[in-house]
Amino acid sequence: MPWCFHLLVTLGPLTAVALVFLALYLATLATGGKGYAPGWQVRCTRCNKTKDAGEAGLIRIKAASVGKVTFGYCSNCQGFRWIAVERKPEAAESPESSSVSI
Ligand SMILES: [Zn+2]
Repeated sequence: MPWCFHLLVTLGPLTAVALVFLALYLATLATGGKGYAPGWQVRCTRCNKTKDAGEAGLIRIKAASVGKVTFGYCSNCQGFRWIAVERKPEAAESPESSSVSI
């Protein structure tokens, strides 16, 4: 069935992207709809709008992104953009460390 093969080739990458977003969405629901990424922010690489990473729905930055850039929707310039994930300038402590103070 050639049409079936063509459909798979055409929609394959899109389906993969959709599955990634679906997985992130389900993970967001599993944690009560709020992301957990204290001290991190996301920045649109096109318009430079920044947003709290947790508010943006990211669960764990290192799990949700490849390197320091991920693919997401910017509500400011209204489109899918490369979103830079970076530490908040005022954040001092790492979300990954569990330091103990006496
Ligand atoms: Zn933007």
